[in-house]
Amino acid sequence: MKNWERYRDCLETGDFHVHTSYTDGSNSVKEMCEQAIQNGLRLICFSEHVRRVLFYNHDGFLSDIQEARQLYPRLKILAGCEAKVLDSSGSLDVSRDVLEKVEIVIASFHDFPAAPKDGLIRTLFSALKHPRIDIWGHPATFFKLADFTTADYHSIIRECIMRHVLIEDSLKYPSPPSFLDACRELGATLVTDSDAHCIEDLKLVTSK
Ligand SMILES: [Zn+2]
Ligand SMILES: [Zn+2]
Repeated sequence: MKNWERYRDCLETGDFHVHTSYTDGSNSVKEMCEQAIQNGLRLICFSEHVRRVLFYNHDGFLSDIQEARQLYPRLKILAGCEAKVLDSSGSLDVSRDVLEKVEIVIASFHDFPAAPKDGLIRTLFSALKHPRIDIWGHPATFFKLADFTTADYHSIIRECIMRHVLIEDSLKYPSPPSFLDACRELGATLVTDSDAHCIEDLKLVTSK
């Protein structure tokens, strides 16, 4: 069972992908929580950027989340991370230490080199095998790396279903509509996330 499955009842009313000023966001954990409450969200997951060697005070980030849980007991507040796929082997840019401390893991393609699509699909499938991955973040940044067909979409979606990985419907990097249609057709579980880097971005999920 993947960790996200514990929060299945919050898929419609939660945002599993937000950032703070600990990395490239501009608001604090508390400010983001306050906006989430104003939006009527039931869950917020701080999926902060990570690397194998961290460049900020991750323990401070976790203790801000602890503190926010005391302040906002009616909002479910999760600590997560967003790790990028490092290379064609599909390994993730995250340390074991961070994986032990966070609940939700998003794997994303960030500035990945373009390559023939068969190799890219193999890379994606290797990454999806990682037992801790909960969400494949913003698929659009993967799809821009090559030309994928509907048949490719189908095999990718089936792999996500088999690995129990949620597919992100990102408000920041929208997926091709035909991919989202295929997700629904094949019964994949989608989660709409803001990938908010500030409270203004988070306001977009009010209508969820
Ligand atoms: Zn990302
Ligand atoms: Zn992000």
